Amino acid sequence: MDTKTFKRTLQHSENYNRKGFGHQAEVATQLQSEYQSSLIQEIRDRNYTLQRGDVTIRLAQAFGFCWGVERAVAMAYETRKHFPTERIWITNEIIHNPSVNQRMQEMQVGFIPVEAGKKDFSVVANNDVVILPAFGASVQEMQLLSEKGCKIVDTTCPWVSKVWNTVEKHKKGEYTSIIHGKYKHEETVATSSFAGKYLIVLNLQEAQYVADYILNGGNREEFLQKFVKACSAGFDPDKDLERVGIANQTTMLKGETEQIGKLFEHIMLQKYGPMELNKHFQSFNTICDATQERQDAMLELVQENVDLMIVIGGFNSSNTTQLQQISEERGLPSYHIDIVERIKSRDAIEHRQLNGELVTTKNWLPAGEIVVGVTSGASTPDKVVEDVIERIFALKATSPVL
Ligand code: SF4
Repeated sequence: MDTKTFKRTLQHSENYNRKGFGHQAEVATQLQSEYQSSLIQEIRDRNYTLQRGDVTIRLAQAFGFCWGVERAVAMAYETRKHFPTERIWITNEIIHNPSVNQRMQEMQVGFIPVEAGKKDFSVVANNDVVILPAFGASVQEMQLLSEKGCKIVDTTCPWVSKVWNTVEKHKKGEYTSIIHGKYKHEETVATSSFAGKYLIVLNLQEAQYVADYILNGGNREEFLQKFVKACSAGFDPDKDLERVGIANQTTMLKGETEQIGKLFEHIMLQKYGPMELNKHFQSFNTICDATQERQDAMLELVQENVDLMIVIGGFNSSNTTQLQQISEERGLPSYHIDIVERIKSRDAIEHRQLNGELVTTKNWLPAGEIVVGVTSGASTPDKVVEDVIERIFALKATSPVL
């Protein structure tokens, strides 16, 4: 399929909207009351610090809702207002946050059901309204919805669209897109659907494996087995790695994406020399500002004297996981939670580890004076952060006196 032409045609169709419906002002008031927090505003105004009793909260200087997420949620609310009686669907969670997704359900916005790992679009009828989430949808899904005659409301973040344009450029120049991301993540699934040949690498270690193969060759079968779910159909490592371009899932660790880009640039330079480099390597800056700001703020926060970190965000939120990774790498006690209810008591907190396991840690809240670092992922409303901070204050206020 000519994905570029398809997308252009879709964007000119009368069934397609990516600009909203003119209800911004009403929706802004509603979002303010549902997701904003006066406590968080107060902490921001006090130089991101608040002390109550034994607890000092240190908030990261950048955290929470990014503008891409705010825009997507606002468009979903607008869609409901604009189509008060129509059936509305979302192809996936609008963003990776349980409380926002719960609100969508309360507003009678349905999620496309998933049967045995596959989305069942048979529930969607002609003239239904379908919202594409902030991290986008695959070109095949868009095509299917367009053929069904649905009204498509596209909330894909422009930063994600920028990555799609990048892989289109790779395809045009016959470069293989090396995508730094998670092959199962919806954004990467969508990005790879716009790519020609592609290979998805999770981290620097996998990138190094590919780089070694480019330079020295290796075991072809082992390579194909390793990337069986993370490459385009018919991928041939002996032919398809001669010309590569770099792309990324927008929420990966920015430093790692940069390192991966440098690694491939260096390898191509070594193999083909400076005069030929541009024929074999392409890189555009597609790291999202919001991800970068949140990661930079976290890197600053972990250098302060915090006793523990609380990282708040959906368990399937990639950018939240990256924040947790920064904290763990620093060796801090760090708890990734999605909702305040994970804090069971002063003595027990349920949290997600980097390996995805949900565990309960006992005696997580130290006695006496403590400094708690707090941050949240790009899809977490301030209201959730407020609930967590209030819970910590309340638990410490009832601590037995030592
Ligand atoms: S994290 Fe970046 S790419 Fe993702 S929705 Fe927010 S602004 Fe867009």
